[in-house]
Amino acid sequence: MSAAPSADEKHISVYSPVATYTLPVLERAGHEYVGLLELLEPLGRVSSESDGRRLKLRYNAVDAEFAAGKTRAKIRGRDFDFSTPFLIENSRGLVPLNSLSTLLPRFLGTTVNFRESARRLFIGDVGIQISFRLDNGSPPRLALNFSAPVNPTISTEPGKLRMIFKRDPLISPGTQSISFANKVITQASYSENNGSAELDVIANEPLMASYSNNRKTIVVSAVEPGTVANGTPGTATSQSGPQNPAQMSTPQNSGSPTASQNPPQTSPQPPPPAPAAQTFHRPLAVVDPAHGGEERGAALTNTLAEKDVTLGFARLLRHELELRGFSVLLLRDADTTLTLDQRAAAANVARAVIYISLHADSLGRGARVYTSLLPVEGPSNGAFHPWNSAQAPALPVSKIVSAAIVATMRKQEFPVQASPASLRPLNNVFMPAIAMELAPGPNGITDLTSANYQQRTAAAIADAVASVRDRLGVQQ
Ligand SMILES: [Zn+2]
Repeated sequence: MSAAPSADEKHISVYSPVATYTLPVLERAGHEYVGLLELLEPLGRVSSESDGRRLKLRYNAVDAEFAAGKTRAKIRGRDFDFSTPFLIENSRGLVPLNSLSTLLPRFLGTTVNFRESARRLFIGDVGIQISFRLDNGSPPRLALNFSAPVNPTISTEPGKLRMIFKRDPLISPGTQSISFANKVITQASYSENNGSAELDVIANEPLMASYSNNRKTIVVSAVEPGTVANGTPGTATSQSGPQNPAQMSTPQNSGSPTASQNPPQTSPQPPPPAPAAQTFHRPLAVVDPAHGGEERGAALTNTLAEKDVTLGFARLLRHELELRGFSVLLLRDADTTLTLDQRAAAANVARAVIYISLHADSLGRGARVYTSLLPVEGPSNGAFHPWNSAQAPALPVSKIVSAAIVATMRKQEFPVQASPASLRPLNNVFMPAIAMELAPGPNGITDLTSANYQQRTAAAIADAVASVRDRLGVQQ
């Protein structure tokens, strides 16, 4: 995905079980448009061709035909009427935003909820709900409970703690503002605009925020005098500093304002100097969707190629790992061709702490975890390792990761097996490395494209990887 768009650029955020992404919005003749191919591409297999006047598009098994400047199109052989004309620019189809609520269900076959004024598009049942609980103690604490883990950008200004949710499909609590019968924390308000939701907590004293419950709870409380200098680990104060969750938020947020960039004027005292060693560091995980481009991988069904399943699955895994504090590098985020050597080299250059290759198979049941078949070596003697056995020093840790995944999945009664395999490029990667192969679940082959099934698996892998985080790392 591209970097976060600048704040004044118009964009639309799309939330679906398989991908969360943001696209630029274009203005043409006073109407707002988005690229149709870009909109559909993260959701399934899509191709299009155009002679400049007509555009034919295929999404999974759905065929559609559009005409430049016209309001009538054909989708699945039936007429579809736009209220604003479809446009073609440089062979690229542009659809008006005001058609998305009716247009997308024709392609996706699922419910679509488009909050047009906020440019937030929800596909399927992905919304995250929020509830509030105020504890009137001293200091008062406001618990924001979310139905799924969240990762907002948090910043402060006098009297306000602001949380911006760009990648989280937060939905309205049903009211724009809630007043609290408390002298310090007086109000919370919700708004959404330009692809983001915003939650503000209003108070008469400086506020701090901390995560708990696997990032499903954010506790907002007044800063007690003295607590700032002590800087309780894991607690984010509005005074910035190394523990600030805004700095721990996803790399996509790096262009957004954070608390550290906006030192609040409400500080009762200046922030403590941040020792370099305390600077929070997000470990980097490399996720490698196997196959791609010309190289389709296994034909899982007549129409389903392994390369497409691995990409969708990789995007889910990226999200789950990010929620658990990792930075994630996807070796491909589109239908591109990469050699096995290129994949290993990219992982090695990135000096990630873990490499996870993803495959899918129509045979068998559940999931399989593979580690390299190389003989296990003792601790590294620092010698240079040849390309074909680069993995050897890291293999004991790779096996720890594999065992953690098996244990996590078995706890959830998810069928899983682990074994060594001669599966490139595992041998060529010098950090802990595993390959996951996703096989059908209880519902058979349809599980391979089921967002729910993939989501469950991705969450289990991410839980397992996070549980052995302290063991991971580049092997010297
Ligand atoms: Zn494969």
